[in-house]
Amino acid sequence: MNQHSFPLAADAFDEARHRIAGTVLRTPAVPSPSLTQMCGAPVHLKLEHLQTTGSFKLRGATNAVLSLDEVSRSKGVVGVSTGNHGRGLAYAARQAGIRCVICMSRLVPQNKVDAISALGADVRIVGVSQDEAQVEVDRLVAEEGLTLLPPFDHADIIAGQGTVGLEVLEDVPQVETVLVPLSGGGLISGVAAAVKAEKPDVKVIGVSMERGAAMAASLDAGHPVQVPELPTLADSLGGGIGLDNRYTFRITRDLVDQVVLLSEVEIADGIRHAYFEERQVVEGSGAVCLAAIVAGKVRLSGPVVALLTGCNIDMNMHRRIICGETVDVMHEGEG
Ligand SMILES: *Cc1c(COP(=O)(O)O)cnc(C)c1O
Repeated sequence: MNQHSFPLAADAFDEARHRIAGTVLRTPAVPSPSLTQMCGAPVHLKLEHLQTTGSFKLRGATNAVLSLDEVSRSKGVVGVSTGNHGRGLAYAARQAGIRCVICMSRLVPQNKVDAISALGADVRIVGVSQDEAQVEVDRLVAEEGLTLLPPFDHADIIAGQGTVGLEVLEDVPQVETVLVPLSGGGLISGVAAAVKAEKPDVKVIGVSMERGAAMAASLDAGHPVQVPELPTLADSLGGGIGLDNRYTFRITRDLVDQVVLLSEVEIADGIRHAYFEERQVVEGSGAVCLAAIVAGKVRLSGPVVALLTGCNIDMNMHRRIICGETVDVMHEGEG
């Protein structure tokens, strides 16, 4: 691959791993008898939804926070995510003893506001749209010197997420295929780079939802494109990749072997399978890899590792899904 497009030094993942070790859990990978039977190859589930804060996003956030220089640390960090990145960032900043401001619009549901505040972040509610919240972020950066840490398109975030890949290699040394949920591509960029640096022949497959898969559309177009954002059970996979994407588009294009898209029904089946067969409570985005196997949408060889990435799902929504209700997210509140 073109060295210029690659933001990470060869030892970035090992360094990240040491840096984040005190904050981040080393999650287990467990065999899945049911999925092994379905695909005829051994399948392991990497239980990253058991990570502190409920998702792997803590890894990237912690690595980015701990990589800041002294001056930046003294001023603090700012983010706009109200989801898993926001949680990870709030927790990482508190652990590091630095200030964290999360800006959000008045439309964000109270339970999300509370979750971020409970992690110690200073929640700032501004305006009635994400754009208005962004104005406050820009002001905090320009006037108060805070550092904006984005959810995926940042070298330290990618390096942090890639530590999952190092653990996969240790957990299942014979691994031939890794399945990774794909949104902005921070996770898959890090995992693919870390795994392929060691074992170039391992296949890395990204899994997204059919509704609003910005990276898949961008790969098809050959450059970053915008797609309409639609409600989906895989809500942590929503959002664009940024038209000015710097890293994750190119790394994904160069290192990811295949991208698979799933329907809402298939994602719901994945959540149910995780619960009934694996005894795991997983959010829609965290269940897509397992869902891709259950739906028969991937042809798999050798030992397979599927990442379960998050558990932050509204538990009433979860109960309805596992009870077999067809949950139409088009007509649901944010939960
Ligand atoms: C953010 C997220 C993803 C996707 O990660 P990207 O780096 O944006 O591709 C997958 N699963 C969960 C639970 C997430 O929060």
